[in-house]
Amino acid sequence: MSEPIITFNKVNKWYGNNYHVLRDIDLTVTKGERIVVCGPSGSGKSTLIRCINRLEEHQQGNLTVDGVELTDDVKAIDDVRKKVGMVFQQFNLFPHLTVLENLTLSPMWVGKMPKKDAEEKAMEQLKRVRIAEQANKYPLQLSGGQQQRVAIARALCLKPKIMLFDEPTSALDPEMIKEVLDVMVEMASHGITMICVTHEMGFAKAVADRVIFMDQGQIVEQNTPTEFFNNPQSDRSKDFLSKIL
Ligand code: ADP
Ligand code: MG
Repeated sequence: MSEPIITFNKVNKWYGNNYHVLRDIDLTVTKGERIVVCGPSGSGKSTLIRCINRLEEHQQGNLTVDGVELTDDVKAIDDVRKKVGMVFQQFNLFPHLTVLENLTLSPMWVGKMPKKDAEEKAMEQLKRVRIAEQANKYPLQLSGGQQQRVAIARALCLKPKIMLFDEPTSALDPEMIKEVLDVMVEMASHGITMICVTHEMGFAKAVADRVIFMDQGQIVEQNTPTEFFNNPQSDRSKDFLSKIL
């Protein structure tokens, strides 16, 4: 039995006083596990993964990430954020910094790494996502697929134990989706824990250990990708799959 690295225990969250966005979430992710989260728009997928690095806070239940329980304790939040990398739909690169500067900023200023070391490590990651030759360009000079690979390399520079992806290919033109998914597949082969919100079935089938289906703030169903896609159990997942397939 693998060790748990993320544990949601009856987690509930509301937006404002009465919008109940996460309902009794129970979820244990083990070290090295690769999870795909899918479900209709508005079902709470982004909120769920954003709670893991405290971009959103939950109000009830317990959420523990690599042995640290997330509460209002600022030190615990900092500890967790050091272990968790995140990639967003809209890349979120700093437009006024070069690709290389986007990657070295946090290791230098937060991690206190000397510039030379930070640049060396950054170049390693840029090579890994096959974009080293663009290091001195600005993000807006790159295609969407290239920008997203830079965002992935930036997250990897901080050596996270866990990577969160929130629809990383949804803003990309179809011909660029594969270059980003290829990088994610490569990353998955290195044993990092991954939670990825995506509707890319091919990716889910290739790398996911488990698919989690959410609807209306709940985890409605979870299964291996093959079982989930071929043999969905609930009416809600059947309805969802009939729309995306
Ligand atoms: P998904 O990622 O599955 O589309 P989200 O987690 O983004 O779903 O959102 C779930 C629900 O919560 C949606 O109805 C959304 O409008 C609402 N919501 C998301 N963020 C906020 C917010 N900051 N304040 C209020 N409501 C929000
Ligand atoms: Mg979302």
